[in-house]
Amino acid sequence: MDNCIFCRIIAGEIPSMRIFEDDDCIATLDIGPASKGHTLVMPKNHYADVTDGVPEALLGKLLKTAAKIGARQIEKLGAAGFNIVQNNGEEAGQTVRHLHIHVIPRYEGGPKMVGWEPTDPGMDALQKVYEVLKD
Ligand code: 5GP
Ligand code: ZN
Repeated sequence: MDNCIFCRIIAGEIPSMRIFEDDDCIATLDIGPASKGHTLVMPKNHYADVTDGVPEALLGKLLKTAAKIGARQIEKLGAAGFNIVQNNGEEAGQTVRHLHIHVIPRYEGGPKMVGWEPTDPGMDALQKVYEVLKD
């Protein structure tokens, strides 16, 4: 896709710091890291997000790659753990419409970066959602 910034990174038209690459995907440092080592794993082919007909094998490979990068952040950067985050749609925080997985290293004593406030909707409300979403 001509106007996709990540397609342009993959094509080498925009420089990036690739820390891993294979036939199907790349892992590159995020230009605006949430923490030291924040990496983006993305397929070389363009898919807008995870619902965009991505082959199952490729999804598996992307997740395995993300796990490998996370392990590397722990081993080589001294991270205490990592978050895997994947945004789908503008309202979910996706700013680049080329499927990518964030691998965000977390350091001891560092700020909380991924989280939410749990709510208590009650069983009736949960039951209604269950009826809508179940198979
Ligand atoms: P999203 O918000 O879509 O889940 O994440 C997009 C990510 O891409 C952001 O974390 C942002 O910092 C990163 N990003 C945007 N433009 C570039 C770029 O040109 N190069 C790199 N390496 N990362 C980028
Ligand atoms: Zn793209």
